[in-house]
Amino acid sequence: MRSRLTAAIALGKATATLSRALGWGGGTTVPGRVARAVEPNVVGLLSARLRLGSVVVAGTNGKTTTAHLLAHIVRALGRSPVHNRAGANLAAGIASALVADADVLGRPRGDLGIFEVDEATVPRVVPAIAPRTAVFLNLFRDQLDRYGEIDAIAGLWRSGGAGWAPDLVVVANADDPLVADAVRGLPGRLVPFGIEDERHARPALEHTAEARYCYRCGTAYIYGATYFGHMGRWRCPGCGAARPQLEFTACDLAPLGPDGSEFAVRERETGGVARVRTVLPGLYNVYNVLAAVAAARSLGVPLDAAARAVASFTPAFGRAERVPVDGREVRLLLVKNPAGFNEVLRVVLSEGPLPVVLIAINDQTADGRDVSWLWDVDAEMLAGRAARAVVTGLRAGDMALRLRYAGLPRDAIEVEPAYDRALKRALDLAAGGRLYVLPTYTAMLALRAVLRRWGAVRGFWAT
Ligand SMILES: [Zn+2]
Repeated sequence: MRSRLTAAIALGKATATLSRALGWGGGTTVPGRVARAVEPNVVGLLSARLRLGSVVVAGTNGKTTTAHLLAHIVRALGRSPVHNRAGANLAAGIASALVADADVLGRPRGDLGIFEVDEATVPRVVPAIAPRTAVFLNLFRDQLDRYGEIDAIAGLWRSGGAGWAPDLVVVANADDPLVADAVRGLPGRLVPFGIEDERHARPALEHTAEARYCYRCGTAYIYGATYFGHMGRWRCPGCGAARPQLEFTACDLAPLGPDGSEFAVRERETGGVARVRTVLPGLYNVYNVLAAVAAARSLGVPLDAAARAVASFTPAFGRAERVPVDGREVRLLLVKNPAGFNEVLRVVLSEGPLPVVLIAINDQTADGRDVSWLWDVDAEMLAGRAARAVVTGLRAGDMALRLRYAGLPRDAIEVEPAYDRALKRALDLAAGGRLYVLPTYTAMLALRAVLRRWGAVRGFWAT
């Protein structure tokens, strides 16, 4: 048993070294795949040795940001988190992270696991990890070709419940009725979080909204307030289901546009309140911050300390990341589904009209192969507010067409399939100002490769 684990670690480490030497990339999943072929339970065996246990983070949007935030908070308190790389959120990616962290005898260097887990992988991976805290952020229509309907995902979470630890802390976004419904059958202590600030509510449910009808009785939900996508203060007039009482509440919000936001976090049980300032923009990031703070509290981090750590956090790779290029600032904001895209548009347009935006759309597996979701994006927001749109990526043509239908004049849309030329052109049009770049996942990797060639960013696995 032990020698099989040792062999799995040795082979996994050798694979990581080899894949780096051969330039295959960061070795984010292949070492884990190799290690699991030798010892199928490598995730369970290694995660069980982490002194402070593990936290898993699941949901369509915000996993990477929330996991990085939580890692930053616990690091500020002297702990050593082990976490998987952005996007490497299947079992192999988690195994890779654990193998990289362990020494050859399987002793971990880190003391706390923080793992992003793909929505559909939750029931398979979570029982092996036996986390002390599970964070559920949201469910959006994302990569439907890969997962099927979101209802099926919610069902998967519930059915995984039998394998969860009974003392689990379930940190869940109560403003998302789908999440609230999906976690209701899980064991352990439920810690619901949400926003309470009518001044920043949106007047009506956006057309991208997923959860219009109650999952228990089919009646249309009534929203007292909506904040982001289908999230808000909801209730069902049919069966009486409603947003659970919040344990962690974000209130007294002061959005600072693209530069972040400031708000108060209130903890019901202790009556504690802490003022939080973050450079992460948009209401969607208020949810991510709340989730990270609530998870940190479940690990015993004082509320004040968590809030202080949030203030010194700088965003992960492609999530509102700032990259200086020749004295100008490039701001990368990942887009991957309609609700997230809309929120990003709101943020970048919040300071007034822009000379240019760069949009980069790919349709590789990590982006989702089906780009029909672009038609659910409220691209109309850009009409009259972005003087130019430079469009690149494998599906630049689809995005350009969407922008035409959204009312942008033909000569305001420039299609430039080559990433480097698109970036250069957009920087020229930005005329010394900040350039907003809105890429899908693999388009972001491609644009970052260009920035790396220009000497503006470090390599993927060095970040
Ligand atoms: Zn109902």
